[in-house]
Amino acid sequence: MSRGLVFDIQHFSLHDGPGIRTTVFLKGCSLHCAWCHNPESISLKNGILFKESKCIGCRACENACNRGVHSFDGGNHLIDRSLCMACGNCEAVCYAGALKLIAREYDPKELAEVLLRDRSLYDRSGGGVTFSGGEPLLQADLVLETAELLKEDGIHICVDTALNVPRESIKKVLPVVDLFLCDIKAVSGDIFRRYIGEDNSLIMSNLKYISENADMYIRVPLIKGVNTEVDELEKIRELIGSLGNRVRQVGLLTYHDLGIEKAVQAGMEEERFPFLTEEEIQEMTGIFSGIACELLVDGVPV
Ligand code: SF4
Ligand code: SF4
Repeated sequence: MSRGLVFDIQHFSLHDGPGIRTTVFLKGCSLHCAWCHNPESISLKNGILFKESKCIGCRACENACNRGVHSFDGGNHLIDRSLCMACGNCEAVCYAGALKLIAREYDPKELAEVLLRDRSLYDRSGGGVTFSGGEPLLQADLVLETAELLKEDGIHICVDTALNVPRESIKKVLPVVDLFLCDIKAVSGDIFRRYIGEDNSLIMSNLKYISENADMYIRVPLIKGVNTEVDELEKIRELIGSLGNRVRQVGLLTYHDLGIEKAVQAGMEEERFPFLTEEEIQEMTGIFSGIACELLVDGVPV
């Protein structure tokens, strides 16, 4: 049985597929989007989050950690995350709640047990479970084995993927997935290389493969200065139009900056992007208005 790292389980999710869902966030991603809203999830390795505003300087973590991760220079709490083995000892002694392991390990049985607690919500709303991340298909075995257990109870399964994964990982989970949520962040290669960190050929080929083999929702993050030029949005609309009738819905997601605080807590840095005005959002929505499926902005039909 596989084991894997889960960094969050969000109950009562309303925008991660049909109905009321529980969304499981798996750790690790093969992209580095400059606007990532879960930057602490990018590394496949576990680690600790530190919330400076909660720290009372008691130094219990320094004594609890036998790896020398925590040290103090006057009033400054220094953290050398490269030494951390994610044992959780410092979290356990931090009564102020300033330290938290990013992720917890689960096997499929443990995970399915947690997810089935919300079963009555799924039944009443036409919802189910969504595997997200990070990139859930970097832990395809955990997704597959957990989804197989959920399928025994008839649970609807979504996988939210950024598509930069080996084709084999997609084929592996295909039999247990009812709906894929796929991001299209850009079409132009130069945007990918500059803001997303990878060539887009694997992503484009996986997008086509899924559109030929499964139902999908497409989600387009709107990041000002990155992919919001009319040319780029028209290319994205054309790409969506070419994918056929298994695209059931297109969602436009406006930028939020929640990732910046999480990046600070994980000892990382994240770029800040400007927010879009109402007028700009309306103009962008207009570019997508001709597509033949349900169009939403931030989960709201337009
Ligand atoms: S144990 Fe917690 S509150 Fe005490 S110094 Fe460490 S992080 Fe701060
Ligand atoms: S999780 Fe363990 S290794 Fe990492 S800082 Fe805390 S005590 Fe040290």
